[in-house]
Amino acid sequence: VKKESGFNFWMSILLPILIPSLLLVWLFAYSFRRANKGAMQIFSFSRANIKLFNRDKDKVTFKDVAGLKEAKEEMKEIVDFLKHPKKFQDLGARIPRGVLLMGAPGTGKTLLARAVAGEANVPFFYISGSEFVEMFVGVGASRVRDAFLAAKKAAPSILFIDEIDAIGRIRGAGIGGGHDEREQTLNQILVEMDGFDRNTRVIVMAATNRPDILDPALLRPGRFDRRIVLDLPNIKEREEILKIHSRNKSLSPQVNLREVAERTPGFSGADLANLVNEAALLAARRNKTQITQAELLDSIEKVMLGPERKSRILTKKEKEITAYHEAGHALTSALLPGTAQVRKVSIIARGRAAGYTMRTPREEKYMKTR
Ligand code: ADP
Repeated sequence: VKKESGFNFWMSILLPILIPSLLLVWLFAYSFRRANKGAMQIFSFSRANIKLFNRDKDKVTFKDVAGLKEAKEEMKEIVDFLKHPKKFQDLGARIPRGVLLMGAPGTGKTLLARAVAGEANVPFFYISGSEFVEMFVGVGASRVRDAFLAAKKAAPSILFIDEIDAIGRIRGAGIGGGHDEREQTLNQILVEMDGFDRNTRVIVMAATNRPDILDPALLRPGRFDRRIVLDLPNIKEREEILKIHSRNKSLSPQVNLREVAERTPGFSGADLANLVNEAALLAARRNKTQITQAELLDSIEKVMLGPERKSRILTKKEKEITAYHEAGHALTSALLPGTAQVRKVSIIARGRAAGYTMRTPREEKYMKTR
């Protein structure tokens, strides 16, 4: 029998006790910390998830916004107020508190609001209307309070509420089952805006593409009494938008942006920005060093209808039907007076369409004849 040495002997006795107990202590500490964190989350839950744009890094000015002439004129006044409030106060003028931007998606509502902040050099707070909506009652209202508090603290500033129709629907209409929580949230916005005194230099801007469903109380004087409509760009504005977005891209000198603008009626600013980007991606895929007209024109179809789907095999019969169908579109357009010009006919599937006839109107039209 060998005599155990001191250290090993004690270790063989201690370790089996020590390791499990250390493990237990760690386990307790860990779960305790987790629980603590969870408890803290309940308190931060009612905080608004408000985004503050970096004033220098993502600065946007009116130069970055093409077209929208009237809207920009209106906004210049707001910029002036944010910069020189005294001029207005001396005259006893009441400063607008809320500006409602109305327009189709992608027409530049957010962009314009950010440009105002950039021009006036004030902080820009962004929150989306849907972020106020939560599962728990009262959270929306408390988030509104929080958002306004942050904006007021940083005054002069701009608080931008995107998609305000998510909470600003007509109250009591019974749509969505009389959503009490949403009403409370809306009420809180109204209360906050009424609470501004004459010297509060916070401008609330809200964006929506459904102005028809907004609660009339929101549109009352003293709230969102400025209403600015943003239209889809016309041909000249489309060319300008294309120019802005191709500024930092390597474009071949032969590119004719006017032609691209001609072929893209109904495109929003966001669509055009996307088009230029698609063209750049396409040029890279074709191993070119510059974007040429071909890529720009090809991207129009991609943005409009989705990518080509050459792998979708149609039977001979189906192809024939598609060909007849598209030929019908093309012929009626070509032969009838007052119709759009046919640019291209294709029976290669794209997006959800089996084939398509691309037509562009000869001029911008806002009305259709019978
Ligand atoms: P909305 O808020 O109306 O849905 P955004 O303001 O977010 O649209 O616009 C999306 C993008 O489209 C912008 O970031 C910008 O790149 C482009 N865009 C839209 N309108 C214009 C415009 N008038 N001039 C330049 N770019 C525009």
